[in-house]
Amino acid sequence: MSTSSIERTNAIAPAVAKFLATPLHKSFVGGRWVEAADGQAFDVLDPGSGEKIATVTSLKKADVDKAVDIAVDAFHNSGWAKMQVAERAACLHRIADAVEARKAEFATVEALDCGKIYDQALGDVQNFIDTFRYFADLSQAVNYRQVIAVKNHEAWVSRQAWGACGFIIPWNFPFLLAGWGLAPALAAGNTCVLKPAEDTPLSALYLCHVIQELELLPNGVLNVVTGLGETAGAAVSQNPKFRRMSFTGSPEVGRMVAEAAGRNLIPVKCELGGKGAAVIFNDVDVQETAEKLVQAITFHSGQVCCDATRWLIQRDIYDDLVDECITRMKSVQIGYQMDGSSQMGPLVNSKQRSRVLSYLQKGVADGADLILEGGAAEIPGKKGFYVKPALLAGSLNNVAAREEIFGPVAFIAPFASEEEGIRLANDTDYGLGNSVWSKDLQRCARVAEAFISGNGWINAHNVIVHGVPYGGVGKSGMGGGVVSPDTLNDYLRPISVVRPLK
Ligand code: NAD
Repeated sequence: MSTSSIERTNAIAPAVAKFLATPLHKSFVGGRWVEAADGQAFDVLDPGSGEKIATVTSLKKADVDKAVDIAVDAFHNSGWAKMQVAERAACLHRIADAVEARKAEFATVEALDCGKIYDQALGDVQNFIDTFRYFADLSQAVNYRQVIAVKNHEAWVSRQAWGACGFIIPWNFPFLLAGWGLAPALAAGNTCVLKPAEDTPLSALYLCHVIQELELLPNGVLNVVTGLGETAGAAVSQNPKFRRMSFTGSPEVGRMVAEAAGRNLIPVKCELGGKGAAVIFNDVDVQETAEKLVQAITFHSGQVCCDATRWLIQRDIYDDLVDECITRMKSVQIGYQMDGSSQMGPLVNSKQRSRVLSYLQKGVADGADLILEGGAAEIPGKKGFYVKPALLAGSLNNVAAREEIFGPVAFIAPFASEEEGIRLANDTDYGLGNSVWSKDLQRCARVAEAFISGNGWINAHNVIVHGVPYGGVGKSGMGGGVVSPDTLNDYLRPISVVRPLK
């Protein structure tokens, strides 16, 4: 480890410091630490300092294929798939216990790796724990042998694990999303190969260290393969030995993964990007609504797929609400993610910062007004990838109103009637999360149900609850979503058993 922000930060526990000091972080396959056959590796940076915090092995297709073979073998031979459901659930609870006991360690790794404000990283770790406990408990309530009453036949549906499942996840919520993917698959008795994003592989690897140290899973049940998207990610998506695939990330890569899995006839779940709208009516408490909208768009620096990035405001409160939002956005404390006074940290990398800044330019070139100018932010002593929040206004046909920016940038526009608010919200290729804001709850229910999206929220945004399906439609996803009983069912293969009666 170089002399970096890590060493200057008091919050680093010795176990985390030791983990980060590992000269080469290897992939975890079959219960062992493995390196790419060609010896190649890539660097991982702290987005807040811009400095290197880890070097990670960069697996290629042959390395990934070996990991999949091991996951397939573990499915058949480790005993995991055939284990009593309650026993498997106990394993998941033990993983949750182990993460809970080291919550601060996991949050530190996550915050340093993806630039997330430390308290938000703590929230993600808690979410991972909750996800493991939720699916552990749910797996014990499933009817694994469901009798079907039909004339002249004895019939039932038996639910079995599928086999080895592949997961490719992005950098914005690395640990939380690992939990959303792995927990239902494991609870159902499958084995897993997870490919984290190359910017943020560390929390998944830290999890493997804990699982190995405490012997929480049979070898080969959970495998983490590190590497670049176009090599290791592509290898996961193309492997024909998986039985289920799950991808979370951009629509562009999602299409490639879905095509590759489709060629092998492997069912694939895609959780993709978004361009969510908040439809705000004139009876809201303007200050409270401004506070919540600004919190949502600055949360994790706007790198949230389901964020409200189009604020549609009923005309008669437009000026007041916009003024309130601008005041709050200007006062957001931008700073290093481990600094307790920071409210908004950096973007994940310099490419993402260039992307966000370029959308401000493209939006203006396409006719938008930049009513809060945003731009790069300088944090004394840090060379990280910071930007200020920005607001654009104008026609919703503007490029910045149509394409996902993935930063603390909102596009605002007025509307007159309920009908127009709904029409503008739905005028997008995406369909992940929209919200409606009004004191009139009947109107809220009407508008929420009229959204063409996977999720419709009332007087709040980004509301994700275990037990409630969360997924996208259109360019935001396909294949069923996450965190609900449906998700567990997706990881159970149904087989109909029928015997004619004489
Ligand atoms: P990305 O699509 O660039 O990368 C996601 C993952 O795919 C990474 O692990 C990457 O290594 C891998 N990858 C890249 N190229 C690949 C290829 N050719 N084949 C296979 N895998 C490949 O996305 P990102 O920039 O990491 O994440 C941001 C995107 O994720 C945004 O669009 C965001 O909206 C979306 N997202 C969606 C959800 C959801 O639940 N809907 C959640 C989080 C993020």
